[in-house]
Amino acid sequence: MHNYPWKSAGICIFAPHADEVDRFCALVKDVFAKDGIDTIVMIIRYNYLFESHPECRGNYPLSKEDVRKMVKACRECGINLVPDMNLLGHQTVQDYLDPDGLLRSHPEFSETPISEAPEYSYSLCPNAPGLFELLCDLMDEIADAFEATDFHVGIDEVFYIGMCDRCKGQDPGDLLAGWLNRLHKHLADRGIKMWMWGDRLLNSYECGHGPWDASTNGTDKALGKIPNDIVITDWHYHNWPKFPSVEVFARAGHPIWLAPFNVAENAKLFLDYAKEHDGGNIVGIMETTWVPISYLMDGLEGKPAQPSEKWYPNSIPHIVRCYKSIFRPDEEWDPMPEDKE
Ligand SMILES: [Zn+2]
Repeated sequence: MHNYPWKSAGICIFAPHADEVDRFCALVKDVFAKDGIDTIVMIIRYNYLFESHPECRGNYPLSKEDVRKMVKACRECGINLVPDMNLLGHQTVQDYLDPDGLLRSHPEFSETPISEAPEYSYSLCPNAPGLFELLCDLMDEIADAFEATDFHVGIDEVFYIGMCDRCKGQDPGDLLAGWLNRLHKHLADRGIKMWMWGDRLLNSYECGHGPWDASTNGTDKALGKIPNDIVITDWHYHNWPKFPSVEVFARAGHPIWLAPFNVAENAKLFLDYAKEHDGGNIVGIMETTWVPISYLMDGLEGKPAQPSEKWYPNSIPHIVRCYKSIFRPDEEWDPMPEDKE
């Protein structure tokens, strides 16, 4: 368990594939529970055997039985398993040209034409007729399977908003707020707490964060127009001199999780800053991982890192080193891994 003054500890991971579920359940018991993790955000996207809209299934869909096993393993360890779908941005799989389950079968829901190669992941159009209702069906199936009390709706890195013929001319902050309020109401009606990433609610120019950590297109005006019981996972990965998002979300009254990533030194800067500027709304620390769960499991089990990794060749040793620096504070930090070319 971390030694910061917040009550919870979490990790954000990609969902295992069906044949990795048993290994994941063992990891929950043997590693995460022992390190004091009480919350896991699991990125499902469309990787579920949807029955309401089977055409939306992703490449590695989990069955209801797979999910039941994971929920049981987590529950036995006192861990809240929170499913995560990307319900606005990030509608691609590997590269930016490969639509995920939903847009593959329903290209009409994209904010920008699927025929035009995007510079970054496709986003959904919040005003597309029929989209919201379809997503509610998918959310309901996932929430039921996970017996979810909490649901993470993604919303990070939405760069395409207010661009299509339906949305053009509308204020991006209003578009985002409207969309979030609809998602929130649907979940709240079911007694489920909504979570989201914080970056689109931050103003890049005011916070001094770059266009990834914070918005440069006005979506941040949604803050204050959405219910402040929405839980924010506030992610920052760089060695910024300060992290004013902590104060921004405290003023707005949102509970937040601090979400570092892979560099132990940068995580410490962020967490130390948050401790000093704590507005009383910080729930805990949630490390993000962004690598296939099989690679992460290898790393946490001390096996050699896989050769091909998304961020850079040595990402696993960095992520594991950062994990240990936060959640095993009594251990000495591993040496900084050498970055291979
Ligand atoms: Zn639109």
